[in-house]
Amino acid sequence: MVDKKEQIHMGPTQLRPLNGDICHGNRDKRCRKCSYVNETLPHVLCGCKQHSGAWRHRHNAIQNRLVKAIPPSLGKITVDSAIPGTDSRMRPDIVVTDAEKKKVLLVDVTVSFENQSPAFHEARARKESKYALLPEALKAQGYEVQVHALIVGALGSWDPRNEPVVRACGVGRRYARLMRQLMVSDTIRWSRDIYTEHITGHREYHTE
Ligand SMILES: [Zn+2]
Repeated sequence: MVDKKEQIHMGPTQLRPLNGDICHGNRDKRCRKCSYVNETLPHVLCGCKQHSGAWRHRHNAIQNRLVKAIPPSLGKITVDSAIPGTDSRMRPDIVVTDAEKKKVLLVDVTVSFENQSPAFHEARARKESKYALLPEALKAQGYEVQVHALIVGALGSWDPRNEPVVRACGVGRRYARLMRQLMVSDTIRWSRDIYTEHITGHREYHTE
């Protein structure tokens, strides 16, 4: 689902084409930052390692919105940590554990490029299969385990399959709508900053 209203607008820098977008002539299509063969928008926003610091901020902005919205009654929340009670080295983005009710909820957050409709589906399947073996370790301890992925498009689209994920996280219907808008606008802002830095070399954000 692509919300046209909220989708990214790159501003004046959009007028400067990426090397991979130039179809005529024999111009070099390589990425100006990392020399990857084709400098396209998906590469810049989701593939070019030069921007990995900004990707992390983009990812964490979404993650933090969800963490803040999960009601404490759902359980103990850990972020980017090993899964309690397992020897797995995996560090899911969010783990909510209700030790009393023996329930564990794992949520991974992903920003994916939305150029093709199966992109979200594939990103979700990848995330969910990553944790496929974990439930066994937890189930052996009597836990009921849910594994979810929350996916936002780098240009600001929202995967409708996030809705059951948000519900599983106990976020009320009204706040869920606002949270979705905030997550989408955070993502757009970060993607725009990444794009601008890529084209102009000027970093739009500051880190402490
Ligand atoms: Zn690159």
